[in-house]
Amino acid sequence: MASVLIALGGNVGDVRATFQKAIAHICGMAQAALVARSSDYATPPWGDAQQDRFINACIAIETSLDPHALLFVLHKVEAKFGRDRAHERRWGPRTLDLDIIAYDDMRLDKPELTLPHPRLFERAFVLVPLAEIAPDRPIAGRTPRQALAGLATDGIERLPDLQEMP
Ligand code: ATP
Ligand code: CA
Ligand code: CA
Repeated sequence: MASVLIALGGNVGDVRATFQKAIAHICGMAQAALVARSSDYATPPWGDAQQDRFINACIAIETSLDPHALLFVLHKVEAKFGRDRAHERRWGPRTLDLDIIAYDDMRLDKPELTLPHPRLFERAFVLVPLAEIAPDRPIAGRTPRQALAGLATDGIERLPDLQEMP
């Protein structure tokens, strides 16, 4: 079994509801066990500021799928929840984005799959939820906690658990 970290993001529709359903689909389709799930965070848009804020979260799973098979599953789940890659702009609005952040200690450097995720260490919106569930896991020689120490986290807000809300 591989230990995998996945980042979730979205800013179109009821993103928190999408995350809940998407996580169940990922675990079902990837024959995966959910090991940890971060809180949801509201985060400022990145790359293209002219859009609504995002919701971001991270999960840790254990799966026997290889990385490419897992990516295939994630693309299927994105599409199921309305992601339409043919009609979107880079880093623009989307219902659901699922990125593989790390797959065991594997390193891959291909356009269709780079591991660990190449922009991880620039992104507080990934590292904040990641630090909640895997603060001390080494990823390419650094831990989320260490990486986060050098980044601004302005505008990132932890959202109350859905069951905590009235
Ligand atoms: P970013 O990669 O900067 O977060 P994005 O998530 O908006 O941008 P997408 O349009 O969702 O980018 O994906 C573009 C391609 O990135 C995908 O088709 C996929 O094959 C490739 N890719 C490479 N490495 C990864 C990875 N670690 N996780 C998910 N997709 C990846
Ligand atoms: Ca992404
Ligand atoms: Ca993506």
